[in-house]
Amino acid sequence: MERLRGLQIELSRFQNEKCLIDEEIGCLRQKRQKLLEKISEIRLEIETYQNLSNSGEIRDKFSNETYEWSQKAQSLLESVFGLKQFRSHQLAAINAILSGLDVLLIMPTGGGKSLCFQITSLITGGLTIVVSPLISLIEDQLSTLKSLKISAKILDKDNKEESSKILKSLEQSTIPFRILYVTPEKLKHNSMLMKQLDKCYRNNNLKLIVIDEIHCLSTWGHNFRRDYQFLTQVHRQFSKTPILGLTATATTKTISDLINILEIHGCCIFKDSFYRSNLRYSIEWQNNSTDDDLDRIIELLMTKYSGQSGLIYCLKITDVDSVVQKLCQKGIKASPYYADLPIEMKNRTYQKWIHDDLQVIVATIAFGMGINKSNVRFVIHYQMPKSLENYYQETGRAGRDNQHADCLLFMKYCDVFSTLSIVYDEYHGRDNVLKMVSFCLNQTECRKKLLAKHFNDDEWLDHQCKNQCDNCQKSNTNNDDDIEEKDLHQSMMQLEQIISNAFDKAEKRLTAFKLLELWMGKGEKKLRPTNVKPTKFEREKAEKIILNLLVKNYLDINYSQSRYCIITYLVVSDHWRSLKTTNDNNVRFDSKRNSDAIKSSNSKRSKTATITIE
Ligand SMILES: [Zn+2]
Repeated sequence: MERLRGLQIELSRFQNEKCLIDEEIGCLRQKRQKLLEKISEIRLEIETYQNLSNSGEIRDKFSNETYEWSQKAQSLLESVFGLKQFRSHQLAAINAILSGLDVLLIMPTGGGKSLCFQITSLITGGLTIVVSPLISLIEDQLSTLKSLKISAKILDKDNKEESSKILKSLEQSTIPFRILYVTPEKLKHNSMLMKQLDKCYRNNNLKLIVIDEIHCLSTWGHNFRRDYQFLTQVHRQFSKTPILGLTATATTKTISDLINILEIHGCCIFKDSFYRSNLRYSIEWQNNSTDDDLDRIIELLMTKYSGQSGLIYCLKITDVDSVVQKLCQKGIKASPYYADLPIEMKNRTYQKWIHDDLQVIVATIAFGMGINKSNVRFVIHYQMPKSLENYYQETGRAGRDNQHADCLLFMKYCDVFSTLSIVYDEYHGRDNVLKMVSFCLNQTECRKKLLAKHFNDDEWLDHQCKNQCDNCQKSNTNNDDDIEEKDLHQSMMQLEQIISNAFDKAEKRLTAFKLLELWMGKGEKKLRPTNVKPTKFEREKAEKIILNLLVKNYLDINYSQSRYCIITYLVVSDHWRSLKTTNDNNVRFDSKRNSDAIKSSNSKRSKTATITIE
C-alpha cells in the first residue's frame, strides 16, 4: 500500500513538472513565433532600403527610349499633353509598367504621377482601372481627362442606367473607354463589378490596376483605410495585370509594409526627392490662451500675408468654425472646409479660393488631397498635425509655383494631449504624434534635415537649407535654448513625486494640464507634495520639459473613456521605473541622442536609447 501511495505521489509530481515544462514550451513557442515575424519584418525593411538605394540605377535602366512603344509615348506626350519632355521618373515608370512590372511611384503632389498611367492607357488600349479614395479627387481627375480628350468613366451610384452600361461594356472585346475610376468601397462591395472585371481580365483586356494614395493600405501610412485591404485579393485574382501604386508621402516602413500586403516583392520603386527648397519651415511656441495665437495669425494675415493666398489647418471642426468666425470679424476673407459641409458649399469655397476671391481656407485634413493651386504663400498649422507625414503633405501645398512660401506651426502644450486622444484608436497613432512632438521640440537641428531623415531621403540630405528653417536661422545668431539633461533629470524626480502623491492621497491620476499646474505650485493644495518646491522654470520651459520626458518614455500616457471623450493622463512609465530599480537614482541623461531616441519612440524595447546608467 505504501509503495502504491509513493508511486502515486511520484506520478503526480512528475505530471506537475511536465505541465510546467509544457507551459514553458508554449510560452517559448509564442516568443519564437513573434521573433520570426519580427525577423521577416526587418528583412523586408532592409530589402526595401536596398531597393530604394538602387532606385537611381533602376530609374536609369528604364529611362531609355529604345522600347517598341518609345516613339508612341513621346508623340502622345506632345500631342495629348502638350509637353516636350518627361519629368524625372515618369519615363522610367511608364517603361517599367509597359514591361509588365509592378511599380511604386512616390512623388510629391503635382509632380506628374497621373500622366504615367494616362499615357500607358493610351498605348495599351484595353482597360486601366484606377482605385482612388475620394469621389472629389476622382471628379477633378475626370475633368482633367475630359480636357485631354482621354475617355474615362466612374461608376456613379446615382446613375444606375449609366453604371450598368459601363459594367456591361467591360466584357466586350473592345472597351469604349480607357480608364475606369472606382473607390475601394465600390470594388469591395459591388460583386457585379468584380465579376465583369474578371471577364475583362480573361479577355486579356485588364491592362493596369492603379492604386492612388496607396499609403492608405498600410497601418503605418497616415490615412489607413480598411477597405483598401481588399486590393490584396484583387491583385491575387488578376495577378498578371501589373499594379501601379501612387503616393506623395511614404516612409521606408510604409513602403515595405505595402509590398508585403500587396505581395508585390520585386516591384520597381521610383522615389522622387521630397526636398522643397522654396519652403521655409518654422515653429512658434504658444501658451495656452488660444486667443494669443489667433492674434498672431490675424496680424500676419493683415500685414506680412496681406493680399496673399494661404491655408490654415486645424485638428477639429469646432476649431475651424471658431477660427473662421474670428478672422471674418477682423474683415479677413476666410471660409471653412471640412468633410461634413455640403458638397456645393465646399465646391464654392474651393472655387473662390482658387480664383483668389478668398484669402484663406481654414480646414481640417479633409481638405487637401488632389488640390492644385500654385500660388499658396503660407500654410499655417493652428494646431499640431497628427504625424510628420501629415505635416509634410499639408505644408507641401504651399509654394507649388516654386516661389518662396512659409510653413508656420503653432505649438501648444495642451494640443499634444488633445491630439493623443484623437488618435487613441488609430494604428501607430501615439507613435506618430510623439514623433511629431519630438520634431517640434527639436530646437537645434535643421528642420529640413529632420524631415529628410524621417523619409530616408538621401538626395535631400545633400541640399543646404540656406536658413530656410527657424533652427538654422537661430543657430546663426547663437541663440541655443535647448534644455539641459540635468534639468530633465531633476524634473522627472519631482514630477514622479507629484504623480505618486496625487494617487496616494486622493487616488487621482493627473491630466497634463493638472500635472503642470501642480508642478508650478498651483492647483489643489492637498495634491501638492510638501517636499516638492514649485519649479523654478518659466511655464514654457516647464511644458517643454514635460513633453521631452514624454517623448523619451519616462512619462507615459494613460487613457480613460468618458461618455463624450477620451481623457489622457500622464503617468510614470514602466521604462523609468525599471531604470530606477536597476540603479536607483544614478541616472544620467544623454541629450545628444535626443532625436534618435524619439525616432524609435516605441522605446520600451530600447532601455538605453537616451539614458546612461553610471
Ligand atoms: Zn534648416
